[in-house]
Amino acid sequence: MILANDQLERYSRNIILKEVGTDGQMKLLNSKVLIVGTGGLGSPAAMYLAAAGIGTIGLIDPDVVDLSNLQRQIIHSNNDVGKPKVKSGKETINNLNPDVEVVTYQEWISSANITDIIKDRDYDFVIDSTDNFPAKFLINDACVLLRKSFSHAGISQLYGQTMTYVPGKGPCYRCIFLDPPPAKASPDLTEKGVLGVIPGVIGTIQATEAIKYLLGIGKLLTGKLLVFDALDMEFRKVDIAARTDCICENY
Ligand SMILES: [Zn+2]
Repeated sequence: MILANDQLERYSRNIILKEVGTDGQMKLLNSKVLIVGTGGLGSPAAMYLAAAGIGTIGLIDPDVVDLSNLQRQIIHSNNDVGKPKVKSGKETINNLNPDVEVVTYQEWISSANITDIIKDRDYDFVIDSTDNFPAKFLINDACVLLRKSFSHAGISQLYGQTMTYVPGKGPCYRCIFLDPPPAKASPDLTEKGVLGVIPGVIGTIQATEAIKYLLGIGKLLTGKLLVFDALDMEFRKVDIAARTDCICENY
């Protein structure tokens, strides 16, 4: 496979980077990223990965677009209200970059389907863009089991956090949070609210981690939880260690 002339032009700002180059761009075009949740975090993650030329993007989301989503879920527009989020997301990505194949899964993730979906296209990297604890533990455990690298993120109000799990290289989500908290502890954005730019910042960092992982460049947020406080405009990196009694230590 060689890059066509329009691809050389489209990706020229990537290609002139010594960290990317033509080989790196080919790697991205041959990469497959699965994004779980096509909402506030998934929107910027999917759009930047599509713009960067990730060849295959999987989108999972059971929901339809609601008017109250548009304050932060920028992959969807006014005309998409009532449309399945994965359909709306696919249309936006197709308009943005026809090089990208979008695979859609309009379903709730559960222990019954998550590993099959990850294995469906043998995704290289998974992005957790969900908004509830059970889904986050489910994604973590499936990725640990399948030895898949993934980016975790969580947001609430004016705060966000993110970390990257790489098998054998550092702690997983369960190393920090042990077990799912009670269901009512999930970050309820309808109750507590979230400033729309928060998932914009954090989802964009998740896309950055995915690109770095796929290219094999730089330092990932492995063993580090990045905590973002928009009110004080502070980013803090908290060191975290793998727990020897965690499931991730046995895979
Ligand atoms: Zn662990």
